[in-house]
Amino acid sequence: MRAVQMDTPGGPEVLKLREVPLAAPAAGEVQLQLRYAGLNFIDVYHRSGLYPLPMPATLGREGMGTVEQLGEGVSGLSVGQRVAFAMHPGSYAERVNVPAWLLAPVPDAVSDEVAAAAMLQGLTAQFLTRTTWPLAAGQLVVVHAAAGGVGGLLVQLGRLLGATVLATAGSEAKRQLARELGAHEVASYDEFAEVARGLGRAHVIYDGVGQATFRAGLDALRPRGMMVLYGAASGPVEPLDPQLLNQKGSLFLTRPSLGAYIQDAAEVQQRAAELFGWIAAGQLQVRVDRVFDLSEVAEAHRHIEARGTLGKVLIRTGG
Ligand code: NDP
Repeated sequence: MRAVQMDTPGGPEVLKLREVPLAAPAAGEVQLQLRYAGLNFIDVYHRSGLYPLPMPATLGREGMGTVEQLGEGVSGLSVGQRVAFAMHPGSYAERVNVPAWLLAPVPDAVSDEVAAAAMLQGLTAQFLTRTTWPLAAGQLVVVHAAAGGVGGLLVQLGRLLGATVLATAGSEAKRQLARELGAHEVASYDEFAEVARGLGRAHVIYDGVGQATFRAGLDALRPRGMMVLYGAASGPVEPLDPQLLNQKGSLFLTRPSLGAYIQDAAEVQQRAAELFGWIAAGQLQVRVDRVFDLSEVAEAHRHIEARGTLGKVLIRTGG
C-alpha cells in the first residue's frame, strides 16, 4: 500500500510517499481501508521532532474508512462498516490496523468527510467542555484560536451549552469567523485579558495556543477559575511556581490530552455518540478548510503551519 513516512525529523520535505507492506490485523485489531486522514497540529510536532517518534514513522493519528478485515476475537463490527478513529498512528496511508476498541461507528447522517474532520478535534472539544470543565449556562469561557479546528468547535459548544463565549484569533478575518460560529465577544491575543476582566473574569479558559496567551490568561480568570492548557501552537509554556496559582486567586490548572479521556471502548463510544449526535442534529458545524491528496501531504503541512486554515485539513487516502 502507499503511505507517507519520514526517516528523520525536520521540515515538510522529510515526508515521503512510499510503497510499504502492511501485516494482517493482529488479535483484537481491525484493518481499515482508509478514505480520509485528518491533519492535526500534533502531526507537525511529530514531524518537527518536538514529540519524538521511532523511525521510520508513518504520520497521522486520525482517520475514517471502512472495515476490510477483522482480527481474531473482534466482534460487534462487520466488513464494509464505516468507522472513524483518533489517537492511533499511521493514518497517512491507504490502510491501517487499529485496535477494535478505538473505533467509533459513523452514523448514516454523517458524511465520510465530516466524520474524518470531526473525530480528533471533535472528541477533544467534547471532553474539554463535558468532562475537564463541564460548561454550564451563565459561565464566561475564553476560547483561543477560535477560528481553528478545536477552537471553532469549542466556540459552538460553548454557545450550545449556554455559556458566554469570548473568542480570540490572530486576524480580523478569523475573529469575524469566530463571531459567525457563535462567539458573543471577540478580541486579539493582546486584548483578551482586559476584555475578560471587563466582563467579570472567566470561569474557564481553553488555551491551545500556549506560550503567547498562557500568562495573560492567569490574569483573566476569576477566583477558583480553571486554566485548561490543551496545546502549544505558539510554543511550550515556561515552567511555573504553583504559588502563582494561589496568588492569582486559587486557580486550577490542567494540561489534558485526549488519550487520557478515551481509555476504553465505552468512553470512545459515549463521546463519539454525543459528538456525532450534535452533528447529525445540525447543532455543530464541522468546517473543512481543504482536502489534499496523499501525494500532497508536505504541502498540507505547510498550509497548516502558515496559520491560513479556517477549519479542518484532510488528506484523501483513496478507497
Ligand atoms: P488549529 O486549526 O486551531 O491551528 C492552530 C491555530 O493556533 C492556528 O490556526 C493559529 O490561529 C493559532 N496559533 C497561534 N499562534 C500560533 C503560532 N505561533 N503558530 C501556529 N499557530 C498559531 O489546530 P488544531 O485545532 O488541530 O489544534 C489546536 C491546538 O490544540 C494545538 O495546540 C493542538 O496541539 C491542540 N490539541 C490538543 C489536543 C489534546 O488532546 N490536548 C487534541 C487536539 C489538538 P490564529 O492564526 O488565529 O492565531
